[in-house]
Amino acid sequence: MGNFIGCDLGGTNLRAAIVNSQTGTVSNLTIVPTLAREGYEEVLLRMVDLFEHLIQESGLGKMNIDGIGIGIPGMMDVERGYTTFVTNLPGHWINIPVGPFITERIGIPTFILNDVRSITWGEYEFGAGKGCNSMVMYAIGTGIGGGVVINKQLVLGNSGQAGEIGHMTVEPNGTLCNCGNHGCLEQYASGPAIRAAALKAIAHGATTILGEMVDYDLNKMTPEVVFNAALKGDEIAKNIYETAGYYLGIAIGNSIVQLEPERIVIGGGIAQAGEILFAPMRRAIQEHVHLVPLERIQIVPAQLGNNAGVIGTSMWAEYMVRRKAL
Ligand SMILES: [Zn+2]
Repeated sequence: MGNFIGCDLGGTNLRAAIVNSQTGTVSNLTIVPTLAREGYEEVLLRMVDLFEHLIQESGLGKMNIDGIGIGIPGMMDVERGYTTFVTNLPGHWINIPVGPFITERIGIPTFILNDVRSITWGEYEFGAGKGCNSMVMYAIGTGIGGGVVINKQLVLGNSGQAGEIGHMTVEPNGTLCNCGNHGCLEQYASGPAIRAAALKAIAHGATTILGEMVDYDLNKMTPEVVFNAALKGDEIAKNIYETAGYYLGIAIGNSIVQLEPERIVIGGGIAQAGEILFAPMRRAIQEHVHLVPLERIQIVPAQLGNNAGVIGTSMWAEYMVRRKAL
């Protein structure tokens, strides 16, 4: 196996590249707007154009592209290549034959996978999970997603939803999540959760420099502002990250107890906060995990950054092509 096209279908951009499956090398990275408002068919046709353009620009020719992988923000039937439900794109993405649609028009076998499972698989194949037998990925950004690899296999679950770690309950009577549950991890450690905690502290009249840092324009409040305030020693800001880290540790502790993975990989924008988040996270893990030897579990940062998705989807296509050939 050699060259694959990997693509992230995001709410804002389509991001695609050619990936060498032996080395993980990314080339011809191209980013175009998704323009999701135009509906799924337009988006899929734009993808076809993008892939044709990549193939031409790479000089490889269609014969030398072994498969295409597409990461989609939602739920899907990976065997048939159909979406089931797509959360973050406007329009009706229910039961759309993304895989067959692209395969038919380009003539290259095309496979789909959840976007964060794709990131997990990318990190496993060529990033922070490389060479290990089992890992759990936590990607912490606007939402919290992840994935699970056990015995070198991506775990998809009975109907493909395994790895929705952002919706693990960490506070049974906690904040209502948009998934319908109360107290999901995402309500405590995601970017919007950190921002909401900052706004709440200001609204309650807490003694903090957070308001001043955004010139009292609360629309300007971001997790980064909270991070910078914490670095300046603001107790409220430090507490917000302390809380996020604590709940992250509770969730990771549960992953550890359940799976005893070799590695926990942490990525996404919020993970850039580093020790301010990781120190309370480690304390919570140590406090709550007793029966599993923690010294044998590595907790490491993700390595592939924005390329994790295109690498992961390419490697997923490689896996599916190889599996179908057996
Ligand atoms: Zn939830």
